[in-house]
Amino acid sequence: MADAKIPLLYIASSSYSGSTLLAFLLNAHPEIFSVSEMHGWEYSERETFHCSCGQVLSECRFFRHVSAEFARLRLPFAFREFGTRYRLVRGDQLNRYLTAQLPRVSSTPLERLRDVLVVSVPSFARRLAREDAANLAFIRIGLAYGEARVFVDGCKNPFRLRHLRRIAALDLRTVHLVRDIRGFVLSNKAKWGWPAAVSARIWLQDQADIVRIAPEVGPVLTIHYEDLCDRTDDTLASIHRFVGVEQHPFCGDFKAVEHHILGNWMRHAERGVVTKDTRWEQELPPEDIAAVTAVARRFMRRHQDHPLTHPPLSDRRPGRQCPRGHGSIAVS
Ligand SMILES: [Zn+2]
Repeated sequence: MADAKIPLLYIASSSYSGSTLLAFLLNAHPEIFSVSEMHGWEYSERETFHCSCGQVLSECRFFRHVSAEFARLRLPFAFREFGTRYRLVRGDQLNRYLTAQLPRVSSTPLERLRDVLVVSVPSFARRLAREDAANLAFIRIGLAYGEARVFVDGCKNPFRLRHLRRIAALDLRTVHLVRDIRGFVLSNKAKWGWPAAVSARIWLQDQADIVRIAPEVGPVLTIHYEDLCDRTDDTLASIHRFVGVEQHPFCGDFKAVEHHILGNWMRHAERGVVTKDTRWEQELPPEDIAAVTAVARRFMRRHQDHPLTHPPLSDRRPGRQCPRGHGSIAVS
């Protein structure tokens, strides 16, 4: 059917939750194509950034093809700025307030009002329309290149879904990828030195935003990073069913197929094997666990009807996943 919508599976998650791994695994399916973070990678001018295929990004076969196609379509494209990021202004913080999260408030009505105000500014409306066109072009180019029919966008941030929703040609659905909060806390501590309580609050905010926003645009499937690693085939099969492709078990090396993934260190590894990162179990000190527990308990007390809070705390054990499929605030 010429007018059939393009299935787009969006990976919504916090950082350090396995989205690069999931994008690699899904890209290994013959009917699925992904570059993971399709809004591009912000590397510095002096940095040499490599695609997962091993080439410098500007020499990568796929991204050179995207560049040529964008030029043909008269869409701006640079290897450090694809034009798909929904960037209205230069400053990151101001751009976030205009296109994603408002400062200090999470309110769908206020965000809707903000969105109406933003599109009432002609230059912003033109920019959003151009970025919509760029995103759709990127998706079509990727699917044609990969001879696939389902596109996976691994940009993680749920607010991006509201922009993609404007693109009428897309059939959106979301996989909400959840990793144990303590893994997220350790990763932030190791990379940025953030205190455990701060990371725990960010994780809860991320999860609450995903739970609030993703259902607005289409069906949501929640999966856990730990299941993706421990029961890879079953977990992939549930996602394959969710997007309507045949089940395709993991072949043992997700790099055995052509790949052009923008994501974490995993893109440099020689072989594509699934390795579960549970370093938090050894490396996160008791005081950090206690801080995470305190923040999570406070959240659950204040938000007793929130999907992240179910099932009741008494049903949880440390490290166990929530059977209702949402948060992994199992820290008691
Ligand atoms: Zn490449």
